[in-house]
Amino acid sequence: MKVVVQRPSSPKHGVWREHVDFLFDAELRPLGRGWHVLESLEPLGPLTDEKPFPVLHKGYFDAHLHVGWMGLMELDVDLRAFTRPEEIQSALTSRVESGATFIRAYGWDETKLGLSLEQVTDAAKKFLPASIPAILYRVCGHAALASPPLLASAGLEPAKPFVSDRDFRRLADHIPPPTSAELREAFLIGQRKLLDVGVSAVGDMSLDDDAVSAIRDVASSGELKIDVVGVFDGAQALATMKSGPVNVANSMPIGPLDRAAIFSVRHWKRYLDGSFGSRTAWLSRDYSDRPERGHSLVETLPLLGAAREALRSGFHLSFHAIGDAALDQVLEVGERLSDLMRERSRIPDAASTATRHRIEHAQLIRDDQIARLVEQGHWTLCVQPNHRVADEGFSRSRLGPTRLRDEAYRMGTLLDAGLSVAMSSDAPVDSPDPEYLLRSACSHENPRERVSFYEAIWRYTTASRLDLGLAPGRIAVGSTVRLTDPAVIL
Ligand SMILES: [Zn+2]
Repeated sequence: MKVVVQRPSSPKHGVWREHVDFLFDAELRPLGRGWHVLESLEPLGPLTDEKPFPVLHKGYFDAHLHVGWMGLMELDVDLRAFTRPEEIQSALTSRVESGATFIRAYGWDETKLGLSLEQVTDAAKKFLPASIPAILYRVCGHAALASPPLLASAGLEPAKPFVSDRDFRRLADHIPPPTSAELREAFLIGQRKLLDVGVSAVGDMSLDDDAVSAIRDVASSGELKIDVVGVFDGAQALATMKSGPVNVANSMPIGPLDRAAIFSVRHWKRYLDGSFGSRTAWLSRDYSDRPERGHSLVETLPLLGAAREALRSGFHLSFHAIGDAALDQVLEVGERLSDLMRERSRIPDAASTATRHRIEHAQLIRDDQIARLVEQGHWTLCVQPNHRVADEGFSRSRLGPTRLRDEAYRMGTLLDAGLSVAMSSDAPVDSPDPEYLLRSACSHENPRERVSFYEAIWRYTTASRLDLGLAPGRIAVGSTVRLTDPAVIL
């Protein structure tokens, strides 16, 4: 029995990439020095926080992130590190001076800039280029700053640079989308970054038709190294909607587990609201720092019609719902389309394993909603424990201390209620670092929402693979697995 240890992607945290050189037949067996192999398809059961030891397990499954967008950050302008408006200005100016005819930039965050949303909007009037179309997405992706030429060409008021996601479609027609070569390259960059931190499977969110073809292309050239559960944007990817679910394997016998990597698209997604940060998440009660409740992005009647059509075309459903009012809308859909949804979940197509319908984010959940989620039984909640930490700059004022502690960024009570929960980072909105995710899941200020380390590991690996339609595979010779030591992470 031999495991070749390729230290150290980050030895300081005690997490190493391992390359399995020899496979042993144990289900869960000590591997010298107290390491254990996680190959069980059941929860970890007897393992408890009282007897911690490092666990060797399959790579993480990050159920909600944006692979292509992670790569595009490198090809376009990355604003995430900036703490002063002048830095944004100089990054934009150097693009203009190098002859750019348009600018796409990502990742500004008013908290990091030490400003309010209103102050950033004012500053933007100075730093946005007056000569070319430019769009600067906020870190959440649900709001942006647009330059006067871009606003004018889309028929919007040129003196009001702050735009919310409701206007993105109008703006998109006036700024060229990434080319197919750029999308392919961006995917490969994102894939490399994920493998570097030990993520071997992802839910790749809100794909449009071009992104779907880019990933198909990567698989057909044998370069797909992670399992990708694609979720397509029902408002945009019309060709994908027409051609039905996708399930292709990497053309080379390479993948994170004992089989070729898989790219599937089985979920049709709609955005129902925005985000807390941009005050566009749709709440059932007012924000605590302003008498408003965000807004809904789609009315229930057309939503039901479109969702019904997606189900009949063979897809499962996925809804972006951050606020509790958006979640009420999801629950209404779950009730009205219950039979069709159950039928869809019961009949997996021959080539793939069963999957569940998805709710993305679910960052504000009332107790009465937990009961209804359990009763409906359709859903996997794809949550981001790290958003609780990343949002600390504004979440207390937006939601108020009680709502924040008792109803926001929940995980523990969802699991206690028996709901299916998958962990994810939403990268590049936030870091895809698994240690950060695990630490966040185990450290909610409300003890009821805290998750044990082993529960978090189980959710973050095999459990969510099983719930979201990915054959969990086995650890085999050549697999990438992880050694995770709770004593060092927590
Ligand atoms: Zn996202």
